Amino acid sequence: MIKIRVLEATAIVALLSCSEAAQTINGIEARVDGGTVRAVGSACVTDKDCDPDGSIRCIGDGFPGGYCSQIDCKTGGCSADSECYILASGVRACLAKCESNADCRQGYACTDNGACDVACAESSCGDGLTCTEGRCVADLTKHPAPRFPEPACDDAPDWRCRDGATECGTLYPFEPVDGPGYTNYPINGETLADQYRSFARKDTIMLVKSAAALVACKTKGWRMGNGQVLALGDMSEANGAIPGTRENDPGHPAGTHLNGFDMDIGYFQLKGADNQLRPICMHTENGKEAYHCTAAPNNLDLWRQSMVLGTMFATDRIRVIGVDGKVGALVTVAMKSLCKEGFLSNDSCKNEKLAYEETDGGAGWYLFHLHHFHISLNKYPAHGYPTEMLSIAPQRGSLRDRDMLMRSH
Ligand SMILES: [Zn+2]
Repeated sequence: MIKIRVLEATAIVALLSCSEAAQTINGIEARVDGGTVRAVGSACVTDKDCDPDGSIRCIGDGFPGGYCSQIDCKTGGCSADSECYILASGVRACLAKCESNADCRQGYACTDNGACDVACAESSCGDGLTCTEGRCVADLTKHPAPRFPEPACDDAPDWRCRDGATECGTLYPFEPVDGPGYTNYPINGETLADQYRSFARKDTIMLVKSAAALVACKTKGWRMGNGQVLALGDMSEANGAIPGTRENDPGHPAGTHLNGFDMDIGYFQLKGADNQLRPICMHTENGKEAYHCTAAPNNLDLWRQSMVLGTMFATDRIRVIGVDGKVGALVTVAMKSLCKEGFLSNDSCKNEKLAYEETDGGAGWYLFHLHHFHISLNKYPAHGYPTEMLSIAPQRGSLRDRDMLMRSH
């Protein structure tokens, strides 16, 4: 028996491949070379229970009742009824395919990835999550304690630029690389010495720094989430061009990420060592990359994410913030809860500048926002620049924001 320590209820961290049939096994048992081979996902005690010839083995630890599987699987190397995953332990193993919990044994649940995995217990889900039908999902009824005393966080920098239209509209590098509540790590070909995609207007920079610091302070005592700072992605180039233009490879469609008004920011996440831009959800459909969340996010720190969105909405500078279609409804509900509890001002929740598409309505938000949210500032702030001094071309064209999906991670 192979010992694999499963670190958490949802053991899968990645789907390796869609499988092609290496060996077709229909039903629970199939006859191979005179021996009895049990389907991947079947209960077992010893390797011989799974396959007399030893190609399918019995995973023990962490899988209640045992789990027949092929270990160290590769692309296309699993049987037709299973697919190859990387478990939380780092081991690669074939797991049984499923469409619903009914397809899995008792004690197992069908994950967002479509594999029979160990069902959660209430105690195995983190704070802010709840075990529903065998899976850990965001619990909108749970508050991310502690609630009192709420820190005042008066030290957070102001988001308002008071230096006049010209200065506030001037592009600067987003520096320093690390500040309160954020990291502007190198991304998409940047290096620390050459952060050429990380220029933004002074007022954009001030707004993001303010929100990052405020959220870090206000949520300091919250136990859910990885507790890491916001990670910043593409902004504009120094001359206001779309990031990547310098390398003759603009990473965003025409009309977006121009002149320092826009920024991509990684979602707050539950797991992992940082919040760098990475998918926070399953994003395949029929084994193919879908470029959007195809199931509820399983690595979104919903509460901190809602805090940062609400904090930004409380300013008068946000034109729009775009999120994935599976994120939008969740944060809308969570923001309301945070407003009610006093973590966010009521202004945050009156704001309706959140953009998302649950189906592809052509507005440009449906695809490519599975690993970041996109913020865009308005041109004409209510608090005061003379508009004739803004020498910024109006933003035209699609809001579509492809954002270098494949190269980001
Ligand atoms: Zn963007």
